[in-house]
Amino acid sequence: MHPRIVVIGAGAAGLLAARTLNAAGYHVTVLEATGAIGGRIRTDTDFANFPVELGAEFIHGSNAITRTLVEESGLSVIPVNRMGNLRWGIPALPLGKLSLSERKLIVSLQRDYHALASAPLYGDMSLRDYFAGLGYDSDGLRMADVLLAQTCCASLETLSIADLQREMQVDHAGGLAYDGEARIEQGYAELLRMISRGLTIRLHSPVSDIQRHGGGLTIYAHGEAHMARACILTVPVSVLKKDTIRFDPPLSRAKRDAIHTFRTERATKLIYRFSERLWPDDATYLTGDMDAARWWAPDLGRGDQAIPVISCYVTANRARVFDLMDDYAALRWGLVQLAELLGTSQYQLERHFVAGKRISWAHEPYARGGYAHVPPGAADARVTLAEPESGGLFFAGEATAYDTNPQTVHGAFESGIRAAREADAYLRDIVR
Ligand SMILES: Cc1cc2nc3c(=O)[nH]c(=O)nc-3n(C[C@H](O)[C@H](O)[C@H](O)COP(=O)(O)OP(=O)(O)OC[C@H]3O[C@@H](n4cnc5c(N)ncnc54)[C@H](O)[C@@H]3O)c2cc1C
Repeated sequence: MHPRIVVIGAGAAGLLAARTLNAAGYHVTVLEATGAIGGRIRTDTDFANFPVELGAEFIHGSNAITRTLVEESGLSVIPVNRMGNLRWGIPALPLGKLSLSERKLIVSLQRDYHALASAPLYGDMSLRDYFAGLGYDSDGLRMADVLLAQTCCASLETLSIADLQREMQVDHAGGLAYDGEARIEQGYAELLRMISRGLTIRLHSPVSDIQRHGGGLTIYAHGEAHMARACILTVPVSVLKKDTIRFDPPLSRAKRDAIHTFRTERATKLIYRFSERLWPDDATYLTGDMDAARWWAPDLGRGDQAIPVISCYVTANRARVFDLMDDYAALRWGLVQLAELLGTSQYQLERHFVAGKRISWAHEPYARGGYAHVPPGAADARVTLAEPESGGLFFAGEATAYDTNPQTVHGAFESGIRAAREADAYLRDIVR
């Protein structure tokens, strides 16, 4: 008889961990706090006549494991080359129409960012200090914030360059090159639905207590006790930070310190449906130094019949103003900024506006923000977070992805497989 294993969380990491262990013959139960699988993957199929992503949207990298999973599931991808069609400024112009100095700035920022991969580091510092040290002025730093830091769901001054360098050195998905990006035609949620087939998943089961004892683990969720010989915990580090799960015995000091080191900032999407397409046909990436700094069109590549939809992904400090507003005010403020970015009038946008939707991940109790980053001086935190605790407790999730790209779906998938293998090795050892 194979022992029982509990996986906590039915996001990308939890589902891949469960699938891997299920395939190895273990009895796996997934406990999920909310009423749905997916975690930070959520696809809206009602907003338009194609799937619109409220959480994760792109596959980053030609070699990302997600592509294999998409293929295995009989799904398909739509390639997107965001940086290839970058527009910048207020209004946002294509590279060819920017001033020479702005064009040079974009190119040199990218070059110096990627040079981090092999730069000798004599200590850690923020990405802001790294660029300032290279002589970038306030214009350059603001552009770096929009084009580089906000993608990491952080602001320039809170990102550790040692952590970024580690990621660049272990990247095997090609996730850091924009030309390998794609969307899933049928939506990310469909991929997770396919992965979850055949798994035992208990929804509405928020875990409150994890006890480790001689006989294994007892995990309490919604008034039920689940016994297991091993447990894989995949909840976001932002949730762990809130101490809503009690551990008996407590987690090790190193683990607790690592948990409290991470920062998870706001991540908010503003999504608009219009009666007409009011933006350029190749709107892969419209960017400018404003609160609503980064926009793209989810209808891109979906054919002539696709309903015109444009969305803004606003993160970290820039999302604060939107998160403090109600839906109506947030969507309206977004529309004002979109008009500036497109160089059109607000009246013109309002005339064609059909519907809007805002999702603030900081307000989701089981996500508490976008995805986690480590501040300068804490680049070891991911490794420590990923380390197993005694008694069969294992850790997965995007924040633990130290040997691949954190902050991504494929990083979460890979972390789930890693933790499943660790649990398998542990169980083989104790059964022997
Ligand atoms: C707005 C946004 C845009 C993004 N865009 C992209 C993108 O384009 N490409 C990309 O690769 N990545 C993107 N990401 C990141 C990606 O979504 C995450 O890295 C990935 O989905 C994380 O998976 P996970 O399994 O680690 O965590 P989650 O998906 O958060 O899964 C954890 C699960 O644990 C559950 N849980 C929490 N607490 C408990 C509890 N006490 N008991 C039981 N269950 C619990 C949660 O409900 C959740 O289902 C984006 C994220 C956001 C928020």
